[in-house]
Amino acid sequence: MNQKRDRQFGVPSPALQRMPVYYRRLRQAIEEGVPFVSSDDLGRSVGMPGAQVRKDLSYLSEHGRPGVGYDARSLAAHLEEFLGLVNDKEAVLVGVGNLGRALALYPGFAHYRLQIIALFDNHSDKVGQTVGERQILPVEKLANLAQRLHIQIGIITVPDGAAQEVADAMVTGGIKVIWNFAPCRLTVPGDVLVKNEDLAAELAALSHHITQRKVIVSGGAGREDGAGRGREEHLC
Ligand code: ATP
Repeated sequence: MNQKRDRQFGVPSPALQRMPVYYRRLRQAIEEGVPFVSSDDLGRSVGMPGAQVRKDLSYLSEHGRPGVGYDARSLAAHLEEFLGLVNDKEAVLVGVGNLGRALALYPGFAHYRLQIIALFDNHSDKVGQTVGERQILPVEKLANLAQRLHIQIGIITVPDGAAQEVADAMVTGGIKVIWNFAPCRLTVPGDVLVKNEDLAAELAALSHHITQRKVIVSGGAGREDGAGRGREEHLC
């Protein structure tokens, strides 16, 4: 079996990616006043059978009751702790173009207790502008501010040619997790985790499936086989 393992918990990467989707389904069930949720129900949220859900949740030592399912509140609380959703997380974002601006204004991160507290850019027209009550700062201030405020997460939404220098500044500032939306691979020290989001490549993969008339309606988090991920990536 050739599955990537999450460094911290020893949970396979695909299972880890499904956990937030289970969490979202559980929150919905709780809001609807549904006390128990079956593995089949959770499975539908990721396009996987209930057996896969039971396997995923067994990494958390969560076992539902046969014929009853999982206690929605208890499992949601456990997932909150496991996914670190109980902790406030502060992030900085670099590159306030169209994508950066959209992420900076997205209210949904608050549910995951992620707050983007500072925005940076290197364009003189953008520095000083305000986005969602935050003033865009010159990128030269990134490392210092990140260090001073003990920022853990850096979001990169600059073009690929600028991504490595931004990542370097983030590393200098002590940032340990980088969410990279630039379509390139970053080189970082071993203790820094990079999560790459290549939107254009994902779109190209979808486009290919549409062309081939093999549209898979799975929500993305559910596929174990890596379909659509066989793309080439390049260094920054
Ligand atoms: P726009 O046309 O408004 O710049 P865009 O999304 O097309 O939007 P991109 O070319 O993708 O812009 O760049 C995203 C943002 O990254 C821009 O605001 C740009 O000024 C900024 N940027 C580019 N290089 C750097 C850098 N080295 N450091 C910081 N920000 C940068």
